[in-house]
Amino acid sequence: MPIDIAAGLALSKNALDIVMAVRKAIREKKKLTDEEIRDYLETLQDKLVDVKTALMEADEENRSLKAQLAEAKRMVDFGAEFTTGEGLYWREKYPYCPTCWDIDRKAVRLGKVPLDMDVGEIWQCPIHQVQHVTQQRH
Ligand SMILES: [Zn+2]
Repeated sequence: MPIDIAAGLALSKNALDIVMAVRKAIREKKKLTDEEIRDYLETLQDKLVDVKTALMEADEENRSLKAQLAEAKRMVDFGAEFTTGEGLYWREKYPYCPTCWDIDRKAVRLGKVPLDMDVGEIWQCPIHQVQHVTQQRH
């Protein structure tokens, strides 16, 4: 079961409380039995393992979120260069699917359908298989 950051922080506080309790016992010259010392150390070890797990999971999530953010930034930069025309997005003379961009923010270049037409061209989205007809030849 994943441990979130808040739970990891609570576990590290528990671990510090154990350390403080042992230090207080030493300061007050209270004799701890071997069994008490073993219990404190085992509990401390369990808490630290859980804290380590929480940190590893948080690091993994952080990396995943950074990668998603970088991809989102890349897409925004890509889309900033779009022009519009004939109901499509255009970039460097190639049309991009308006549905993919408007809904999913995916820049999906349309493929030209090799059909001999007198006027215009047919472009197809490789994701939706939807075809778009342009009046101009590109
Ligand atoms: Zn599409």
